[in-house]
Amino acid sequence: MGSIALIRRGDCTFPVEARNAHLAGASGVVIYNNVAGELRINLLEDFTPNIPVVSTSQEDGERLARTAGLRMRLEAQTVRGNIRTSNVIAEFAGSNPGGVVVLGGHLDSVNAGPGINDNGSGVAALLEVAAQVVKSRPYDTVRIALWGAEELGDLGSQFYVGALSPAQKEALALYLNFDMIGSPNAGFFVYDGDGSGGGCRAVGLWRDRARSRRLLPQARGSAA
Ligand SMILES: [Zn+2]
Repeated sequence: MGSIALIRRGDCTFPVEARNAHLAGASGVVIYNNVAGELRINLLEDFTPNIPVVSTSQEDGERLARTAGLRMRLEAQTVRGNIRTSNVIAEFAGSNPGGVVVLGGHLDSVNAGPGINDNGSGVAALLEVAAQVVKSRPYDTVRIALWGAEELGDLGSQFYVGALSPAQKEALALYLNFDMIGSPNAGFFVYDGDGSGGGCRAVGLWRDRARSRRLLPQARGSAA
């Protein structure tokens, strides 16, 4: 028993909105969208009070707001806790002792999508690369990394890098990331081709290669 807070999505984060409602005495929270369409919220670890918090569309939220004398029963079944996830790492030894080329993509997906593009597409491509690389001995060592928990803040890859020794980090020659590569209306471009985001030599190599193969439209060349 108590009051259920009905909140129109605003500028605060969802955990802040829910926490404010809880501090004001709400025994449950419904957050509805401020634009057309469904709203999926994630409270992550920032929200700990033991009250149900659910979300709904703008249309349903406004209907609830218009209903005089509304009585509601709010029940949410959730599981809260830490779960274990994994990185999957495979390495194909090359003949060049100098450098390791790392090809990576994340294994997880978000609640709001089916996951086949983000990032089933990237993982599928990497599995195909692995199937091809295993047939030949590459010049550089190729390491394929499928990361866990990317969508929660690059947790898998950060854990991995954090566990490398300085020498192991030094051995990394290049990292290429494969994320959402299954678009039916793809555009060809090279991200940050001027090196402003870290001066990565690999980006320049990719830009030059893409230009030589005429994969980059001329109009985008300078921005590529
Ligand atoms: Zn992704």
